[in-house]
Amino acid sequence: MTPTEAAPERSAANSSLDDVVAELRAREAFVFVSHVKPDGDTLGAGLALGLALRAMGKRVNYFQQDPVPRNLRFLPDAERVARALPADLPADALWVFCDMSDSSRAGEFLPALERRNMLDIDHHLANSRFGGLNYILEDECSTGTVVLRILRALGARVTPEIATCLLTTIMTDTGAFMHSNTNAQVLRLAAEMIDAGADKELITTEIFSNKRFAAIKIVGASLERAKLEDGGRYCWSLVDDAMLAAAGADGEDTEEIVQHLRAVEGVDVAALFKAYDGEVRVSLRSNGRVNVQSAAGRLGGGGHFRASGLTYRGPLAEAIEAVHAALLAEGL
Ligand code: 5GP
Ligand code: MN
Repeated sequence: MTPTEAAPERSAANSSLDDVVAELRAREAFVFVSHVKPDGDTLGAGLALGLALRAMGKRVNYFQQDPVPRNLRFLPDAERVARALPADLPADALWVFCDMSDSSRAGEFLPALERRNMLDIDHHLANSRFGGLNYILEDECSTGTVVLRILRALGARVTPEIATCLLTTIMTDTGAFMHSNTNAQVLRLAAEMIDAGADKELITTEIFSNKRFAAIKIVGASLERAKLEDGGRYCWSLVDDAMLAAAGADGEDTEEIVQHLRAVEGVDVAALFKAYDGEVRVSLRSNGRVNVQSAAGRLGGGGHFRASGLTYRGPLAEAIEAVHAALLAEGL
């Protein structure tokens, strides 16, 4: 870099665990922020750390633009998560962002914040390090296990409620221990959470079964329209408003569809185009040959090597073309 070039906004380095712990001890009030279209990791990680801070006598609020999805309402303290913020929130509250590579993932209702009041805890690739403090461990299976490291450094007790939140983050982000990020250490941590009182049965039932009938109907409708291209290496499908209406389903019922597309023999990359509620969102999944985080990054999205997503600003037909081109550019 020549001296005339502006230094990049992001600092590549992580804050130290000691600095993160010192900051958590120093502040009295916290707001945990989860990303739009929340999943078990963004919610479970924030709820776990929030529960631990509340046990230390701290004031804890939760900000989330979207409602808590039906299948995550069982999480301890989930009923405290809202878009509305209390009027008497202290100006020096620390806003803790869990599981997002950029603060824009919190949505448009996030108030303007000073960087020094933001803590970024994450495990995504290409995190923009938007916080005054940033603790990003890309090798962790979930943001929840990053939080577990922080809890240990804080000396916080892992209660059964916290353990349920953290096991949820692990099970969500490993696809119930099926994804390649499930290593021996992850299984040890999961066992530790069960020893600490995590309710695995509840998590399994609420997140991975108990599907609404409408959910299986929309899965069926989308799989019916699936296309296999590029010599069988690329499988994609879509869901739109009309399909949702016909099935009596909503966006929360579409989550598992892309896994089915990826599970087709010979498929390297799967894409699901979700053209409803006034936007076109795309979920990408890879078997590990093609980097779908980079592909999503070409179109303003992000995520992980094998699982990524983006919102496409334009019509569905264009999105289908653009995503295909991005995947080809990444070696599909
Ligand atoms: P999903 O397909 O389940 O919505 O997302 C898969 C992964 O990609 C998740 O890790 C999620 O956080 C990430 N992701 C999804 N959409 C976006 C997006 O618009 N921007 C970024 N940076 N990451 C995304
Ligand atoms: Mn995650």
